[in-house]
Amino acid sequence: MNGKDLLAVANENYFAVPAFNISDYAMGKGIFEISEKLRAPLMIAIHPDEVAHLGRDALPAIVQRAHRSSVPVAIHWDHGGSYEQVLEAIQYGFTSAMIDASMLAFEDNVAITKRVADTAHTVGVSVEGELGTIGKLDEQAEDGVAVSEITYTDPQQAVEYVERTGIDSLAVAIGTAHGLYPKHMKPELKLDLLQQIKELLPIPLVLHGGSGNPDDEIGQAVKLGVNKINISSDIKVAYHDRMREVLADTTLREPLVIQPPAIAAMQEVAAQKIHLFDAAGKADLY
Ligand SMILES: [Zn+2]
Repeated sequence: MNGKDLLAVANENYFAVPAFNISDYAMGKGIFEISEKLRAPLMIAIHPDEVAHLGRDALPAIVQRAHRSSVPVAIHWDHGGSYEQVLEAIQYGFTSAMIDASMLAFEDNVAITKRVADTAHTVGVSVEGELGTIGKLDEQAEDGVAVSEITYTDPQQAVEYVERTGIDSLAVAIGTAHGLYPKHMKPELKLDLLQQIKELLPIPLVLHGGSGNPDDEIGQAVKLGVNKINISSDIKVAYHDRMREVLADTTLREPLVIQPPAIAAMQEVAAQKIHLFDAAGKADLY
């Protein structure tokens, strides 16, 4: 499915579709399987750096897996950095693409986002834009600015941005950050700001940097109209923490022995998120 149709059902029914970032096929397969088990609609998110790591030849396999899935799936190009990158996403069969020009001046963000949306829409691919900036907590985090420099999304400007660009969903900056929070830092979402934005702009809103935020805040954000939440760090931490434990046995050699426990640990966290976002069972609404 494209992102627009996938998220429209979430918007009508007050749940959020998890967008899980995957960096290899085995992780992706694990995410498909847990989503199918819980009957949850799914976005497979792949960041350009992850595309490079996977290799472009692996992308058709992921698209093929989506076609065979028993739940609705969109394949989403996460944080597209240019018009040309989004063309690439379209060529590879992605059904949803983000153009992230949030670091540019407002008029420049509008111009590039509109150009992307006009092109993507001609072939039925939906587009997510971003207004305001999302934080970056550590060097491995995918994108963003220092947390002290976060610009929150301005509700009035968001309305103008969506009207002028024609995007299908909007990533909002309400206090989340990519990566993992250091122990001394307590994340806090501006839920009142989220509410203001949604009242003026009833399209699906997107939360990036959703790892590490308290569950009750995320749950409230879903009820207030967030319809897609990106989860990357949390599933990857679960995967690799478990893998480090497994690898303590230095005699192990075969990936098919080493990876399954790590995938199971990742699925456990993915399942928690699916329930937190109220997405379990929602595949039946499509
Ligand atoms: Zn992001």
